[in-house]
Amino acid sequence: AKRQGRNAYARFDPGMYASLVNEAQLRAEMETALAADQFVVHYQPVVDLPTQRLTGVEALVRWQHPSRGLLGPQHFIDTAEDSGLIVPLGRWVLRESLQQLARWDRPGLKVNVNLSARQFQDAALVTDVRDALAESGVEPACLTLEITESMLLQDIDVAADTLHALRRLGVRLAIDDFGTGYSSLNYLKRLPVDIIKIDRAFVTEVATDPEDKALVDAVVGLSQALRMQTVAEGIETDDQWTELRRLGCDFGQGYLFGRPVGPAAIELLLSEPAAA
Ligand code: C2E
Ligand code: CA
Ligand code: CA
Ligand code: CA
Repeated sequence: AKRQGRNAYARFDPGMYASLVNEAQLRAEMETALAADQFVVHYQPVVDLPTQRLTGVEALVRWQHPSRGLLGPQHFIDTAEDSGLIVPLGRWVLRESLQQLARWDRPGLKVNVNLSARQFQDAALVTDVRDALAESGVEPACLTLEITESMLLQDIDVAADTLHALRRLGVRLAIDDFGTGYSSLNYLKRLPVDIIKIDRAFVTEVATDPEDKALVDAVVGLSQALRMQTVAEGIETDDQWTELRRLGCDFGQGYLFGRPVGPAAIELLLSEPAAA
């Protein structure tokens, strides 16, 4: 039987905690939680696909709930977004991740931070990012901000202005969950995007389904033509890894290489001698 432990939240159904309490209560609890430092950031390895070498991490927020244990974002991120609390929470994740990257102190190691729609529309975003970089001393090029396709649809000119302003800070920009939103190939040409993250939906069957294979092949080709890099998400098996490597994907993320873990576990990975 599974024991209650650090990974206890994984046993809960998505949305379970949110359904136990009402929205207003959850919102109030989250405000307290933010003030009481109950949020933590876990980090998932991002590896160079051919070599499996660690090149960076993606920051993924969790809530260390005083009575419920560790809650994943599916329990609270929608409420945070709806209530606007995602703006201060996201700002905290950004600062915390950059400070952690500085503490690891590995030249060249990168961190990816997710931006929510509200954060992306927030007038203070560019200033927040600039301040967080300055405060941590992290090289701007070591920060990648992840946005989703849906954020680009609102008003393409406004989105373009924001992305260009972020780019001028020297950070890199990634499109998350690529292929799951309402994509328009037009924005890829118009917007200063560096990285395309291929959603797990296309990765799961990449080694077995010819159509998924063809789609990933096309996305990699497109990225190369536009001088962007690709990251495949949700790699769980050797067969998926082999196929994605063959298709020319640059980087990968998934349980095969590592689950999201606390900063100390990443520290251990960093202290391991590099695999031959
Ligand atoms: P995402 O940005 O697409 O993050 C990837 C999610 O896939 C993570 O779930 C990660 O744990 C999971 N994952 C990674 N590898 C595998 C795999 O091999 N197999 C499977 N089945 N899953 C894998 P997580 O941590 O529960 O986060 C869920 C979503 O919550 C994220 O999806 C992101 O949209 C959102 N999120 C997480 N942290 C933040 C944050 O700080 N800010 C914002 N705005 N959103 C966040
Ligand atoms: Ca992401
Ligand atoms: Ca994703
Ligand atoms: Ca996703």
